Amino acid sequence: MKSHEHVPPPPPPPPPSAQSAPRGLPGPPPLGAAALPAGTYAGQVVLVTGGGTGLGKAIAAEFARLGADLVIASRRADQLAAARAELAAVPGAGRVTAAVCDIRDPERVAEVFDAAEAALGLPDVLVNNAAANFPCPAEDLSPNAWRAVVDITLTGTWFMTREFGRRHLAAATPGSIVNIGASYAWTGGPGFAHSAAAKAGVKNLVETLAVEWGPYGIQINGLVPGLFPHADMTGDIQAGLDRAGPDAKDARQPALRVGRPRELGWAATFLASPYARFVTGHTLVVDGANWQRRALVNPEVVPVREQLGRGPFEG
Ligand code: NAP
Repeated sequence: MKSHEHVPPPPPPPPPSAQSAPRGLPGPPPLGAAALPAGTYAGQVVLVTGGGTGLGKAIAAEFARLGADLVIASRRADQLAAARAELAAVPGAGRVTAAVCDIRDPERVAEVFDAAEAALGLPDVLVNNAAANFPCPAEDLSPNAWRAVVDITLTGTWFMTREFGRRHLAAATPGSIVNIGASYAWTGGPGFAHSAAAKAGVKNLVETLAVEWGPYGIQINGLVPGLFPHADMTGDIQAGLDRAGPDAKDARQPALRVGRPRELGWAATFLASPYARFVTGHTLVVDGANWQRRALVNPEVVPVREQLGRGPFEG
């Protein structure tokens, strides 16, 4: 092209029409809808760690709706008691029991399974949902903080899984495990080195045990939530979400909305159901594609210390 030739400027982009305006992914059916046939879990026992709060309680509620007998387990008796009453009131629910348990203690874990077996029968499904987390620059993590998160999230998950697996192997009965993970198991999690490393271990266990225990009828899958705000979130996590403004959460998701806890519950009930028996060793991400998000031009890098409002590292 000769330099004196006139090149017309590109036309301005058309205004978004009603059809093409981004609206995000549609919302889910209302709370109370069931993803599977009524009674899918009738006569089945489902144990959910951390089932007294947040996503664990939402997952437990969807199993209850499908007729499961529930065991919810965590450390705080008061919150378990309140959740037990709530879950027992879910239409279709079977029996609901609660067990106070720190999943870091393998003897207490064994006692929880003993009590569950005596009251309801050996759990057919284990949902490893309990975890601990808080944001922290890696260089500020104390050995105790590291140990607490890795011990709860990875080692506690393993103790529960080990007990479940050993009992089913001994009884020659099938079972299904769902490990709740996080997408930084794949990507790394700046500001969450402890939790991301632990969740990578949790995901890896899924892959190992699906092969080791498949021959004995034990299925194991991972389930990764995206952003699922709920009333029980810790102050630390809530503050992190609010940093961009209390109403900014939806606009920061490709789905233009956050997840609703029941959506995670529906996915869990599918993964552990007879309809997913050939799905094992898989980790399902339910996050509206948020973890695959990339910008054409990346935003400037802000060090984690700065994002968390911490001053310079002083050793
Ligand atoms: P949460 O509100 O922090 O709840 C954690 C649960 O785990 C609580 O019920 C807690 O009960 C229990 N727990 C903690 N330490 C325990 C221990 N040592 N022994 C037994 N129970 C223990 O978490 P959440 O937001 O509902 O998240 C649930 C799962 O989803 C976690 O695995 C989390 O990593 C994952 N996740 C959540 C999101 C999200 O947007 N919410 C995103 C990605 C991944 P006690 O204090 O009574 O023990």
